[in-house]
Amino acid sequence: LDKKVRQNIWEDNNYINYKKMSENLAIVRSRLNTPLTYAEKILYSHLDDPHGQDIQRGTSYLKLRPDRVACQDATAQMAILQFMSAGMDAVANPTTVHCDHLIEAQIGGEKDLARAIEINKEVYDFLATACAKYNIGFWRPGSGIIHQIILENYAFPGGLLIGTDSHTPNGGGLGMAAIGVGGADAVDVMANLPWELKAPKVIGVKLTGQMSGWTTPKDIILKVADILTVKGGTGAIVEYHGPGTETLSATGQATICNMGAEIGATTSLFNFNQGMYDYLAATKRKDIGDFARAYSKELRADEGAEYDQLIEINLSELEPHINGPFTPDLGTPISKFSQAVKDNGWPEELKVGLIGSCTNSSYEDMSRAASIARDALDHGLKAKSGFTVTPGSEQIRATVERDGQLKTFEEFGGMVLANACGPCIGQWDRRDVPKGTANSIISSYNRNFTGRNDGNPATHSFVASPDMVVALTIAGSLHFNPLTDKLKDKDGNEFMLKPPTGDGLPSRGYDPGNDTYQAPPKDRSAVTVAVSPTSDRLQILSPFDPWDGKDAKDLPILIKAQGKTTTDHISMAGPWLKYRGHLDNISNNMLIGATNEANGKANEVKNYSTGEWGAVPAVARDYKAKGIKWVVIGDWNYGEGSSREHAALEPRHLGGLAIITRSFARIHETNLKKQGMLPLTFSDPADYDKIRPEDRIDLLTTQLEVGKPLPMIVHPADGSAPFEIKLSHTFNEPQLEWFKNGSALNTMAKASRS
Ligand code: SF4
Repeated sequence: LDKKVRQNIWEDNNYINYKKMSENLAIVRSRLNTPLTYAEKILYSHLDDPHGQDIQRGTSYLKLRPDRVACQDATAQMAILQFMSAGMDAVANPTTVHCDHLIEAQIGGEKDLARAIEINKEVYDFLATACAKYNIGFWRPGSGIIHQIILENYAFPGGLLIGTDSHTPNGGGLGMAAIGVGGADAVDVMANLPWELKAPKVIGVKLTGQMSGWTTPKDIILKVADILTVKGGTGAIVEYHGPGTETLSATGQATICNMGAEIGATTSLFNFNQGMYDYLAATKRKDIGDFARAYSKELRADEGAEYDQLIEINLSELEPHINGPFTPDLGTPISKFSQAVKDNGWPEELKVGLIGSCTNSSYEDMSRAASIARDALDHGLKAKSGFTVTPGSEQIRATVERDGQLKTFEEFGGMVLANACGPCIGQWDRRDVPKGTANSIISSYNRNFTGRNDGNPATHSFVASPDMVVALTIAGSLHFNPLTDKLKDKDGNEFMLKPPTGDGLPSRGYDPGNDTYQAPPKDRSAVTVAVSPTSDRLQILSPFDPWDGKDAKDLPILIKAQGKTTTDHISMAGPWLKYRGHLDNISNNMLIGATNEANGKANEVKNYSTGEWGAVPAVARDYKAKGIKWVVIGDWNYGEGSSREHAALEPRHLGGLAIITRSFARIHETNLKKQGMLPLTFSDPADYDKIRPEDRIDLLTTQLEVGKPLPMIVHPADGSAPFEIKLSHTFNEPQLEWFKNGSALNTMAKASRS
């Protein structure tokens, strides 16, 4: 185990350390003396202090030493701006940055990319120079989507990666614990601080049987999402095992892990298996596959390991699913979908089908989808709906171009978009349907919250396998079931589509395509980081004020948000993405998507100091200018969705003190703490209903202590007697220091000064 095997082909000095991992694990085993799940093995083998760390699933905070950090361009800007203020000359752990989120889909890959490079020049220049300066690998625009590049180049079995994007768990397809975090967590690891994670519970998913016909790995996660719902994975790692895993490709496993983000799971992963070995070998990393085989005993769950919850799925019986609209956990098997469309009045015509993205753009996905398109073409049919293809990486694009699948898609009527997020993150200049018009689209992406793809709240967005997307695109209707329904060919004769076929890996190997990687230079001292002081997209950060040490009295409720409040509602993506590096400018989108309980409207709240109604950010700015702190009241799973720390930075920047909810999504809760905010939950969730938007509150912050509820006094606006509500929190001692110092970053800077 003490062989020297490099983590990847790009970096010379970063090795996989199975020896150290197995030593750490031996220490933990001697303490716990119980069979371990694979997820636990990875986490415990990366403990900062395996001897002393308190370890209890669902309770302890683990201090971990990840192997790598990955950032996408939207989140990297703020992460690097924060890292810069820590005053170090290089990142302490291997890090990469990936340009994928800022490329808008309009007229096709090449032109869209060229336009994006022009529009985003100052951001790309900043990232390219900052990466060169601080020893970070930089993947230029056009290289592909972060998670696909990580899978192709950096993920390895047993590794621990954190990524500033919620679909980082994609790396679980290579048996890695790949966890989505906020930029502030990434900054910690770049700066060599241990990274803290509440020890997750472990949900086991046992797969038996074998898929066939139209069923794909995507259908496994669509089914799991249906079972567990968007909240069901919160605080847990989902671990797939059982005989059914042996027949899955690594990329299929990655799809499943990727979309585990939709059930709120910390991450998802598979035990090391043959599919992973084959994929490592196909992507120039056979040495890693062999090394993993030598260490394979520790790259799977121990015999008898116990799961906190166990789900079993028989792949032989699994039907293709279509999930949505508006939420990824509303699953419908294809046999019942047409009826569901009727029963719910979903728009029947399919306007656009979209395949690809980080979730589903493997060689296998593209080949199977192309086989269906070819079948249709052979019958003289093309896509009836609009059809787009987003390759996940330049390597995939070049390979499917060489092998003919792209040509098939184009013949079929498809538009090939840039190797980037595009419509998946709202970067879609959609023109076929006016805003506000109800319509249906279906994609092989992972997330389908209201307005996510095209900014149109009336768009009914469904998610499915690429196979199902192509099939429905041929019919142009949500009523089509390719397993049972016939189509008419160009002469009016009926036929049925053949079940899709396609190779898991390219028989001629992958074609790397254009060179899109920028390695850090040997001599980094001469590099200057490019930030213009007049930029409206980048802004050097100033530290937040420390806590004033007093109880907070008579605070207004900026908004009492009703129902779902995702990070998209708190800090909307789409057109705002371009301000990710400029805190003051992007704060103009704060909470503009949240529904105000007072009037049922978005972005209209009452300013208690003037009595006027105004936009949420404007009212917050007015309070800030007057020195009035404020709070937000939220519902269940507040902050679900993505890892974007802007959703925490913005309320802090605009003078918020606390976010008080029925419950939080994990990443968002941590992000709020990092920025020096107080994420608090109603000890009794029913208390949410006792507060009215116009009430005032006192937060007795001087009583804030680890493990103790925090009292809040509510002063009802109707003049009735004030009453007390107990609020819970999950702060530990070091996190309380973040609050007191004003932020985690202030705490780091303070520590490095002393
Ligand atoms: Fe990009 Fe969509 Fe994947 Fe996020 S989920 S990384 S936006 S393709």
